[in-house]
Order: sequence, then C-alpha cells, then structure tokens
Amino acid sequence: AEEVGGGDKEVVREYFNNNGFQRWKKIYGDTDDVNKVQLDIRLGHSKTVENVMKMLTEEGSLQGVTVCDAGCGTGCLSIPLAKEGAVVSASDISASMVAEAQKQAQEELFKDKDDQSPAPVMPKFEVKDLESLDGKYDTVVCLDVMIHYPQSKADGMIAHLASLAENRLILSFAPKTFYYDLLKRIGELFPGPSKATRAYLHAEADVERALQKAGWKIRKRGLIATQFYFAKLIEAVPA
Ligand code: SAM
Repeated sequence: AEEVGGGDKEVVREYFNNNGFQRWKKIYGDTDDVNKVQLDIRLGHSKTVENVMKMLTEEGSLQGVTVCDAGCGTGCLSIPLAKEGAVVSASDISASMVAEAQKQAQEELFKDKDDQSPAPVMPKFEVKDLESLDGKYDTVVCLDVMIHYPQSKADGMIAHLASLAENRLILSFAPKTFYYDLLKRIGELFPGPSKATRAYLHAEADVERALQKAGWKIRKRGLIATQFYFAKLIEAVPA
C-alpha cells in the first residue's frame, strides 16, 4: 500500500485529519508550544511562503488574478494571496485542514476591515484531493504536498496541475540530494511517534522532465534550507 490513489492516499487523509493536523497546525501557527525542530521547520516554511509571494507579486499586481492553492493546509499561502486581492480557490484532502484554513482566513482577512483597500476576497475553501480539481486558473500553486507522492505518481500530479493553469505553476518539494536522502534514511531508521506517513523526495531533474512532458518549462528556481527544512521552489510557465 505505497501508492497515492491507493492505500497511501487514505493514510495521508487520515493522518492530516488527526495527528498530522494537530502537529502541522502547531508548526504553521504562531504559538510557543513548539520544540526546536518544529520552530526551525516553521521558519523554513514561512520563508517558502514569502518567496512564493515575492515570485508572484514581482510579475505584477495580484488584484483579481485567479489562483488555485492545491493542498492549502491551514491557509498559510491562501491568506496572504487574498490580502493582495487574488481570487483564491483553496482545497485540501483533509477536512480538518480546510476548516482551520477557513477559520484563520475569516479572522485574518476581516479583522480591521476599515483600513483595507481594496477589500480582500474570502478564498473559496473546499475539501478535495488534487486529482479531482478542475477548472482553469491563472496560477496554480502546490506547496509541500509532493512529499506525499512517490515520483511515479508525481508525474501525473504535475501534469494534472499544469492542465489547470493558464500562466504559472509553482511547486515546492523536498529535493533528492545525497545529503538530504541520507538524513531521510537515518530518520526512517529512527521514526518519531508522529511521523506516521512516508516521505518522498524528488530529484529536480525528474520534476523538470515531468513539466517538459506536459509542455511547461521552468522560469525561476529557488532553494529554501534551514537546519531541518529543505524545499526546492520552482515556477514554471508554458513552454
Ligand atoms: N500547502 C500548505 C502549506 O504550504 O502551508 C500545506 C502543506 S502540508 C505539509 C501538506 C498538505 O497537503 C496537508 O494539508 C495535506 O492534507 C495535503 N495533501 C496531501 N495529499 C493531498 C492530496 N492528494 N490532495 C490534496 N491535498 C493533499
């Protein structure tokens, strides 16, 4: 039962509705009840979100731009996107995550309504796995979700996300480099209690090949690395 779409996907859904939800809500939040490793991951992830916002806004205003945030988690990206005026469709396989994202968006976006111009648009939140997403969006973003997909399934996932995007596709993934692969293997020898799901690393060349096959090319690349968080960030455009 290794495959997303088979048993693995059920395991991922179950994890992110329960233990994984509690763990990641804490990491993605701003409370003090995190350990050093979790704090480091929080920092790394927030850098990824910052870099994505930079990548997107340096191409022009996001006002009225449609963005699909696939695997939105607690809304760390959807909320800043909405603040910039983007029309956000946010979805996640986990109903717990979607409910939390909805709650945080409500709190964050409308707390001081008077001095916001233009007024942000509430993202449209949905419980949906990304294989069943449809429609067309100017931009599709999928952050830190590929770690749940083996490369054999990631190709199809990348092609599907690309088919939903008109202009831009932004992906982040844990890079399969020698050092990180080693860390991960050590981690597997000593699995922590809350690491209930498998983690898949991806070689940048494999991701690039999958994009090329779908008719896309990489325009920007970045690497976010802290002590315990590694993410390769890429922006692709139609070739
Ligand atoms: N993208 C968010 C962020 O960067 O803040 C959340 C990242 S979190 C590590 C991974 C998220 O992917 C979880 O919320 C999980 O429920 C979601 N996820 C995993 N597999 C998925 C799938 N097949 N379809 C949609 N969401 C999925």
